[in-house]
This record gives sequence, structure tokens and C-alpha cells, in this order.
Amino acid sequence: MTYNQAVAAQAGLVYDPRYLAHDTGCDHCESPERLEVILSALDRAGLLARVQRIQPRPATPEELCLVHSSSHVERLARVCRDGQAYIDVPDCAICPASFDVAFLAAGGILAAGDAVMEGRVARAFCAVRPPGHHAERDRSLGFCLFNNVAIAARYLQQRWRLKRVLIVDWDVHHGNGTQHVFEDDPDVLYCSLHEHPAWNYPGTGWDSEDGTGAGVGATVNISMLPGSGDSQYRQAFEQRLLPAAERFEPQFVLISAGFDAHQADPLARIELKDESFDWMLTVLMRLAEKCCHGRLVSVLEGGYDPGVLRRCVSAHVRLLAGQ
Ligand SMILES: [Zn+2]
Repeated sequence: MTYNQAVAAQAGLVYDPRYLAHDTGCDHCESPERLEVILSALDRAGLLARVQRIQPRPATPEELCLVHSSSHVERLARVCRDGQAYIDVPDCAICPASFDVAFLAAGGILAAGDAVMEGRVARAFCAVRPPGHHAERDRSLGFCLFNNVAIAARYLQQRWRLKRVLIVDWDVHHGNGTQHVFEDDPDVLYCSLHEHPAWNYPGTGWDSEDGTGAGVGATVNISMLPGSGDSQYRQAFEQRLLPAAERFEPQFVLISAGFDAHQADPLARIELKDESFDWMLTVLMRLAEKCCHGRLVSVLEGGYDPGVLRRCVSAHVRLLAGQ
């Protein structure tokens, strides 16, 4: 094996230019430019040559229905076909291509999961859109059409017979959709760090929400007051997230990686710095090494400042690639 092949085997990248075809209109912050900025930054940093490209495939309707109702899937098909401007809420803007792109976004995470489970890559980053963590079983919400990460967790359990999947969601907004899918399930540990629900969208994710029925304890919400930053996040990881995650002994780690908790992001008042995202990933990579042979897939959620996306996603992929 040559040096380049050895490096390429380290990390995978899911991206497809078709993700740009989800047109949300000229004033929408969840824009195709987000991915263009990320891809050009990875290219300029020489990182595209150092990761293994993973070709996304569309998820099947059956795979989407591991999380969503078939009526939701059919409704998205219909409103896209009819040329409607949005589904469910005005911020879930769509265009005729959005239905196919949403299938390809969800399927991209499944392709990354397969690549990790088959040992083709050690771990992967998925630069996909639309994002997913606000999407509920029957409803699109908060720029999210299908819940990409939740579908991937269920797929890993079904296709690869994994029992315990950890989802860490550090997007600055609470992942209401992901929480609701798994809140009564003890086999998916959902840990979210987000700006306090009294101050930011979507208004869920109070620390007291810790799961229901058999799933009590398998939801960990850590809400952050406006102005919180690196030291509060470090404390939350050390005192709450890591103890719960280590006890859980995950067999796969999924990250809902938003970059909107950065101090420069326009959608929140959390003050993380560039390096905060580096140490959060490093800690989770270490956890994955300890618990599950390093199996980890990180998935883009939010993040709306182009400079932050450029710098922080490049550093993120560099770390995943082991450099
Ligand atoms: Zn967000």
C-alpha cells in the first residue's frame, strides 16, 4: 500500500453537487452556498485528495419510513411536484428538486455508515443538505425535511444488527425531531448541547426532558445560557455527556454537527470558538476508539457563517482524516 492509499483509508467524505439543487430562495440562510463554501475550502486545503469520496445513493422509501410516516414522504413528493414554496412551515422552503435531494441527503449518511461498517473508511463526514434534526415523524420543521441522522441510526440497527447507537448533537438548536424519534428507546442515547430553549428555537430541550418509558435516561439535554462558551461546553462534556456515553458503551457514534454555536454565527448567542469544535470532535473520536473500533460518522446540520464553515469544517475533516 502506498502512503497515499494509507491516508485515503482514514476518512470518507460524502458530497454530491446535486445537494446544491435544493433551492430555498434568495433570502434563506440554509442556502446552497453553504456547501459551495465548504467544498472550496476543503479543496484549497488539499483535503479532497486526502479523503475517500463516498458516493451517496438515494435512501429508499422503506428506509425513510424507519423514522417517518409514509404519508409524510408522500406529502413531500406531492408539494414538490406541485411547485409549492414550502412544506409545513415557511422556513422549510422547497423547490421541485427538493424531494430527490432530500432522499439523496438521507441516503448519503447510509452510504457513509455502510463504508464504515465494511471497513472501507475508518470514519466519515457527510456534507449534505437539507439538514435533518428538526424533522419530526410526520412533519418537516426548521429547514429540515427528513431526519437524516435518525434514519441512519435506525438503519445501522437494522442493516448491521447494532444495538446501541449514540447520537451527539452539538448544533446550537435542540434536535427536537431526533429526540422525539428515540425518547422511549433505551438503545439510542441522544445527547444534545444547545442554546437554552427559553432563548432559542425550537423551544424544546429543557434539561428535565430525559426520555419517556423505557427510554428514561437515554435522552440527555444540556441547555446553555446565552453567552456560554468553551468552558461551559468543556464542563458539560466532562460532567454529563461523557459519563453517560461511556456507561452506554455505544457500538456506533453519530454526530449531528452544526457549526452555529460559534460566536460568529448569526442565529444564536453561544460563544464557541474555532478550536471548540476541534476538541469536541477529538473527544468523541477517542470515545469511539474506546467503545466501538472508532466507528463514527459526522453529519452537517446547521451553521450559517461562511467564514466559520470554511475554517471549522476544514479542521473537522482534517481531524477525521487523522492529520
Ligand atoms: Zn442549528
